[in-house]
Amino acid sequence: MANKMVYYFGKSKTEGKGKPKALLGGKGLNLAEMTSIGLPVPPGFTITTEVCDQYYKAGKQLPSGLMDEVGKAIKKLEKELDKKFGDDSNPLLVSVRSGAAVSMPGMMNTILNLGLNDISTEGLAKATKNERFAYDAYRRLINMFGDVVMGMDHHQFEIAFDKIKKKYNVSDDTEVPAEGLKELCEAYKEVYKEHTGEMFPQDPVAQLELSIEAVFGSWNTDRAVKYREIEGIRHLLGTAVNVQSMVYGNMGDDSGTGVAFTRNPNTGGNKFYGEFLINAQGEDVVAGIRTPQPVAEMPKWNRAIHKELLEVKKTLENHYAEMQDIEFTIERGTLYMLQTRTGKRTGIAAVKIACDLVKEELIDQKEAVMRVDPNALTQLLLPSFKTTARNAAEVLCKGINASPGAAVGKPAFTAEEARERKDAGEDIILVRRETSPEDVDGMSAAVGILTSTGGATSHAAVVARGWGKCCVAGASDVEIDEKKKRLKVHGQTLGVNDVISLDGTTGEVMLGAVETQEPKLSGDFAKLMKWADEYRTLAVRTNADSPADSKRARDFGAEGIGLCRTEHMFFEPDRIIHMRSMILAEEEKDRRQALAKLLPFQRKDFEGIFKAMAGLPVTIRLLDPPLHEFLPHETAAQKEMAAELGVKASDIKKRIEALHEANPMLGHRGCRLSITYPEVLEMQVQAITEAAINCGKKKIKAHPEIMIPLVGTYKELALLRGKVEETIAKTVAAKKFEGDLDISIGTMIEIPRACLTADEIAEHADFFSFGTNDLTQMAFGYSRDDIGGFLPDYLEQEILDVDPFQSLDQTGVGQLVELGVTKGRSAKKALKIGICGEHGGDPSSVEFCHRVGLNYVSCSPFRVPIARLAAAQAAITNS
Ligand code: PEP
Ligand code: MG
Repeated sequence: MANKMVYYFGKSKTEGKGKPKALLGGKGLNLAEMTSIGLPVPPGFTITTEVCDQYYKAGKQLPSGLMDEVGKAIKKLEKELDKKFGDDSNPLLVSVRSGAAVSMPGMMNTILNLGLNDISTEGLAKATKNERFAYDAYRRLINMFGDVVMGMDHHQFEIAFDKIKKKYNVSDDTEVPAEGLKELCEAYKEVYKEHTGEMFPQDPVAQLELSIEAVFGSWNTDRAVKYREIEGIRHLLGTAVNVQSMVYGNMGDDSGTGVAFTRNPNTGGNKFYGEFLINAQGEDVVAGIRTPQPVAEMPKWNRAIHKELLEVKKTLENHYAEMQDIEFTIERGTLYMLQTRTGKRTGIAAVKIACDLVKEELIDQKEAVMRVDPNALTQLLLPSFKTTARNAAEVLCKGINASPGAAVGKPAFTAEEARERKDAGEDIILVRRETSPEDVDGMSAAVGILTSTGGATSHAAVVARGWGKCCVAGASDVEIDEKKKRLKVHGQTLGVNDVISLDGTTGEVMLGAVETQEPKLSGDFAKLMKWADEYRTLAVRTNADSPADSKRARDFGAEGIGLCRTEHMFFEPDRIIHMRSMILAEEEKDRRQALAKLLPFQRKDFEGIFKAMAGLPVTIRLLDPPLHEFLPHETAAQKEMAAELGVKASDIKKRIEALHEANPMLGHRGCRLSITYPEVLEMQVQAITEAAINCGKKKIKAHPEIMIPLVGTYKELALLRGKVEETIAKTVAAKKFEGDLDISIGTMIEIPRACLTADEIAEHADFFSFGTNDLTQMAFGYSRDDIGGFLPDYLEQEILDVDPFQSLDQTGVGQLVELGVTKGRSAKKALKIGICGEHGGDPSSVEFCHRVGLNYVSCSPFRVPIARLAAAQAAITNS
């Protein structure tokens, strides 16, 4: 027997209850469910997604037998409602809607009032004693049917409407009298005939058949196909069709319509939240022509309905165990439910609702952990814009959403200016083409950072994220004139006194001060995090290079430091001078002298970090960036440096020229520095060892892990490991330390060759940490600092779905990671492996890390909670 094609829902029976969503679509299933739990749903029926599939398989033909089944369902509907399709006194009218298993924009719009024709419109006028209402419904049907089913241009109907309004000398649709609407229906039928070559179908069943075909047709419009492609929606048979009897909220002052959430979607408060309009249709609420009233005001209008709605809330939440977003209509004092679905909410609300539902025993803790989108936690940790203010703001341009949060301030164009103006009490947005370590003080002074080049792993992005500071990078439409202290964007020029707002979560730059709200850490947040920790198996560490950041990350639950970038420790004024003289030195002896001056600073920093981390592992990376990054780029600064060091400015210039590289990212950096200048490694390792010894003496546990960056061949690691071990031994001997030292030595895996030869490398490593920033850069061949120039085009033209520097490219780069893991563990079974690229705080990348068997992820302090939750979800999903 052929499969059942039509599922009825109504008082007599609800056939779709408990059927798969894939068969009835989300909307169809919810209508059936609502009916089955006794809610007042206008009856109707759903044509399955299988029928859509058959329609396409048969070359766009409705399967035989379908219209018979539809006919039977119509009969049932007529009986239940005591109305008749096309009737001249009490006609049955229906709406037709699409509805796939996944909600999908781009599919067919709704058709309302189907069933009206020249005769039944008179019938409707009689039944409602309202001719104007009946003809208004008829003209809406002809218009919608023309637009949606026949693909006519809406404008053609508008011309006819304008003529009628002119004739009756009115400006508003609602002022046209019944007589005028009657004439309008005639005119619309003419327009329809003119453009389709056919008469508007008078037979309601013919209207229905054409509408069903149109819904199926909309499954494969370019927009819908594209949407499925982008969202990765596969394996769906097609869309269902929902045919439902009409109810009207515009039948007078005892009628109305509304939309509501069963809980407050902004705060999560367990209070019905929504609005309604008296004597109006659903689209009036959405269109915003009239201002609706809050549902809390409803008792003044109709106490009984309000009470009934509160009952509906309870029934729905008990059934779905989830906050619902509903649509309802009141027709002449009777409440009808038209739709329910899971309600969208803010991060703050998501956490509260999940915890409350556990308290109310509607869900368990595991389910609560699954209910919150990890990225939504950002709203609890960082400032954000108020939604209404945000929606009303003028967007100037869009860059890369490099570090989330919200910032409002006036532009400053150099780091010094940012610092000075901040100290004078201004809120500053630092606006630079790109930032370099030289700008760190200005970045720290600013409330937000905007750059016109660079991407999600650029200096600005990495530093800002570490501090939880808002940053928009690579906003290539912003032209910066540092000298004149102004920026130009799309024809607007802004100076030091113009306020701008940055949305680091979307990458948008807005004009003026957009109102912000402070983050709120609630007891519910801590509760949810505790539950998450019970499920996750991945450890979560942080990327931090100061005791303050380490402490904050621990407060957020970090279980160690996965990456301490030591280069960030060299930039304070009393240190950079020694770093620079080390770089300028031509002889090893002079270099060692300068390094000796840096050693106490490093030792003190490490001691501070070990103390803050109290025995948790601290992965310290040896010096990584190319040396030119430590030297000033501008002539004035070079002169200043020359005076300070007592050398000639021309010598400095010469050294800078000598250090110039065509491609510094692929140049003399990472472990290559230690190969050429082993004394730098020695100083750093000595500082680490001494710091550990000092801690040991004070009974503070220290657990350093020394990490060698940018290794591409095992020989680099073998050689440098030897030097590290030698230095540790020498330091211990010099200090005559006899206690235990727990120092391991490992490497970053961030060069494709390192992944391919990970077995050889593992022989010399105690641990691996994937540096997926460089790995992505080298796998794609995209410069991480220049991606801002072309990424928007790549996203817009859908060459890339997401920025691969933000979310790990699992298809390509992911293969390298997997290979690195497999090969590494083939040589050393228990090899500890983590990730410290920026992907360590991205939920889908965290899920990937869980699946390929990493031991930990490491991310900036503010993303630690996000990673904890994402890791728990990964463990639950993959268990
Ligand atoms: C990486 O390359 O992924 C990494 C963490 O190092 P950095 O960003 O400092 O190059
Ligand atoms: Mg790197």
